[in-house]
Amino acid sequence: MTATRVLVLNSGSSSVKYQLLDMADGSRLAMGLVERIGEETSRIKHTLLADGGSTRERTGPVPDHSAALKAVAAELDGDGLGLDSPELAAIGHRVVHGGLTFTAPTVVDDAVLREIERLVPVAPLHNPANITGIRTARQLRPDLPQVAVFDTAFHTTMPEYAARYAIDVETADAHRIRRYGFHGTSHAYVSRKTAALLRRTPDEVNVIVLHLGNGASASAVAGGVCVDTSMGLTPLEGLVMGTRSGDIDPAVIFHLSRVAGMSIDGIDALLNKKSGLVGLCGDNDMREIVRRTDEGDQRAQLAFDIYVQRLKKYIGAYTAVLGRVDAVTFTAGVGENSAPVRAAAVAGLEGLGLAVDPGLNAVRSENPRLISPEGSRVAVAVIPTDEEREIAQQVYALVKD
Ligand code: AMP
Repeated sequence: MTATRVLVLNSGSSSVKYQLLDMADGSRLAMGLVERIGEETSRIKHTLLADGGSTRERTGPVPDHSAALKAVAAELDGDGLGLDSPELAAIGHRVVHGGLTFTAPTVVDDAVLREIERLVPVAPLHNPANITGIRTARQLRPDLPQVAVFDTAFHTTMPEYAARYAIDVETADAHRIRRYGFHGTSHAYVSRKTAALLRRTPDEVNVIVLHLGNGASASAVAGGVCVDTSMGLTPLEGLVMGTRSGDIDPAVIFHLSRVAGMSIDGIDALLNKKSGLVGLCGDNDMREIVRRTDEGDQRAQLAFDIYVQRLKKYIGAYTAVLGRVDAVTFTAGVGENSAPVRAAAVAGLEGLGLAVDPGLNAVRSENPRLISPEGSRVAVAVIPTDEEREIAQQVYALVKD
């Protein structure tokens, strides 16, 4: 029997998301989520997609990631899709930070694990959970390839002049300070899908991808290769996000420390957790913000306008970086679902060849689609992202045969 299935694990600080895909036909067999790991009220939601689909949910303490993965294994086992199946080819792990070391999916051995650990100081919130996920999966199936797929990998093609901050080179190098970028798996998948939607090959098109979820980032992709992206050393830089400020004058930090007397940890929490949309208007869900603007709420309107202004700046900047743009593509929770954000981000950019057809923009769909008027110089597209599928594809390409 050929092993064609890939289990994709996305281990966050207090959650594990998973999907089981069969790469023989690309079908999704099962998916689920363990959340609130470490609390009394952890929740496991498991959906079997094969055989018509059914969902099981239960609540109860899941003390740590090891217990979470064992619970996932038990759920899959209950559906006859257990980790001991000979059809399982590999387990793919989303790893947030691969630094400059990892430019492609990598089979994990002890040396690779040590290197991912070495990157913890530049990704303290994410890499530790990813490492725990890999360790536990290795214990459960030591004989199976465990493959790490890095959020930063797609951005390692950025030229030095896009990746470096204009600070003292020795200091930057000593502490590995540079722009790494994140959401790379999504940017890779969506830019490739954009080319397919335009009936071209990836090397023929230049695309600006706007990944607008709770975290948000933009990237400039020239002929399938990332040449610039908005997130930097950490996922704090760039666009306005649900709870993160995005771009800010670094002197604000000195000011908050010296004048407001805030601690570094306090400022870190302010910029990462209490800023962005939530800091501006108290809500980080774009649905709620748009509803409030419709009712004339001024704070929500200002938050929306600041969010859109930042998007426009990046569309303009990346148009200049790319020289010629074939498509601007919206993806992730806000990008896929919020017609008002898409309309506002493109409004007034006719000079750049950009426009949105209101009728097409209003259509709700889960399919890749164009929302620009027929004959536009630059296509505007909406493409649902699928990071798990992209991870599974990369993993399978590495381990098959
Ligand atoms: P993600 O991180 O990609 O899962 O995106 C989550 C975010 O998408 C949420 O915080 C919402 O702001 C946004 N979102 C989800 N559904 C909608 C919708 N129907 N309209 C507007 N925004 C949405």
